[in-house]
Amino acid sequence: MQLYKNQTLRVHNSLSGKKEVFEPINEGYVGMYVCGPTVYSNVHLGNCRTFMSFDMIFRYLKHLGYKVRYVRNITDAGHLENDADEGEDKIAKKAKLEEIEPMEVVQRYTVDFHNTIQKFNLLPPSIEPTATGHIIEQIEIIKQILDKGFAYEANGSVYFDVIKFNEENEYGKLSGRKLEDMIANTRELTAQDEKKNPQDFALWKKAEPQHIMRWPSPWGDGFPGWHLECTAMSTKYLGEHFDIHGGGMDLKFPHHECEIAQAEASCGKSPVKYWLHANMLTLNGKKMSKSTGNNIYPAEIFSGDNNILSKPYSPAVVRFFMMQAHYTSILDLSDDALQASEKGYQRLMEALDNLDEIKTSDKTDFDISTWQQNCYDAMNDDFNTPVLIAHIFEAVKHINLIKNDKEKITQEDKMVLRDTLEGFVYDVLGIENQAAGKDDSKVLDGVMELLIELRNKARANKDFDTSDKIRDELNALGIQIKDGKDGTTFSIK
Ligand code: AMP
Ligand code: ZN
Repeated sequence: MQLYKNQTLRVHNSLSGKKEVFEPINEGYVGMYVCGPTVYSNVHLGNCRTFMSFDMIFRYLKHLGYKVRYVRNITDAGHLENDADEGEDKIAKKAKLEEIEPMEVVQRYTVDFHNTIQKFNLLPPSIEPTATGHIIEQIEIIKQILDKGFAYEANGSVYFDVIKFNEENEYGKLSGRKLEDMIANTRELTAQDEKKNPQDFALWKKAEPQHIMRWPSPWGDGFPGWHLECTAMSTKYLGEHFDIHGGGMDLKFPHHECEIAQAEASCGKSPVKYWLHANMLTLNGKKMSKSTGNNIYPAEIFSGDNNILSKPYSPAVVRFFMMQAHYTSILDLSDDALQASEKGYQRLMEALDNLDEIKTSDKTDFDISTWQQNCYDAMNDDFNTPVLIAHIFEAVKHINLIKNDKEKITQEDKMVLRDTLEGFVYDVLGIENQAAGKDDSKVLDGVMELLIELRNKARANKDFDTSDKIRDELNALGIQIKDGKDGTTFSIK
């Protein structure tokens, strides 16, 4: 269903700093690129928050009926320890430390990433390309930027000339920085520096003899700069101008700023219509980060094995906790907050379980279509999941009142309520009902009740062929039927 025709979605565009009506470049289609993980260590819960935020956005766009091509890359080369193009490649460093191949590091942490986000019920992206799989494309872009005069070669490396670019373009427009201020606040270059100016960034770095991750290029053996891979892969799979580019706030500068500069320098076009940035998960009020060690891993949350936790929490509870905050707000993790989310999650799942059993009547005591539109309005307001969840709890209140015969609902409205709630909770927010096993046993009970009734009817009609067939075939499936003085029961052998 093309719901997007009746709903006006607004998104906060970091480029304009405003909420804008979302109108994709091609009606009905959305191209979305999100910077993926650098796979040199296990993902922490902060990383997971950003990927969950964009999963929710992906899910809502699909729910609205858009055909979405979602590209989320894997950074498996070129990400140096330091933003100023210095230090070792993070993956190569880990490989050296563990005395393994860099691709073993990549494989190990890519698998960890996939396993972890699967627990949080993230949908797979449409394409998950790697930096090392797109070296040729990256070299082609460098050639284009060199041809246009916005880059220069120095001693086997190629740097982007930020000052030259800024003469006709605006470097810093995404992060709201001015090049003059950046220049005033940085150190002078020394004689050993290859860059013409400290703001210049590497498109290609010469590989020193000890550098293991290296590829041939027109400028000699080396490796691409970190920012380049995202320009290469987004252009290849989504085109020179596409709808949404996402990532964590911390990537706005320099990473996304440099992506804009590279794309504008190589093809003269602004690459992205809507830039969306997800905010940070903090621990003890400080950003969770791999490098500072102020972090918590999903495995610790699921096992409860961390000093800040009083108990384990399930992936669905953690996802619910994340969705209770707006994706652009900072969220602080604490045991108290997780406990509160767990209570909320349980109330919500109980209400969803009760929904099928509530009695229907000839009228409904609340305005279901207003409630339903309120849910859409919340999501249309830059994916406002906390407001959506508040509306979902309005529905929980009504379900509980109907269950206790204090309110009424018609059969038709009950269906609308169920479909809308399930649509938002399971499909859009991606929150799983982890008591689903309980539901399976309910289904089995129902099916057995029906079969026993059919068998008893057949016996009453002296149709012993049918009654024996039901008993024998259930027996072959491992289900034994017993006739007792209180009726017929079943057990699984
Ligand atoms: P990285 O693997 O370091 O490149 O990070 C992968 C993604 O996680 C990026 O989009 C980051 O912006 C995001 N990220 C890193 N730390 C946090 C955090 N504490 N909270 C939310 N997102 C984060
Ligand atoms: Zn990126």
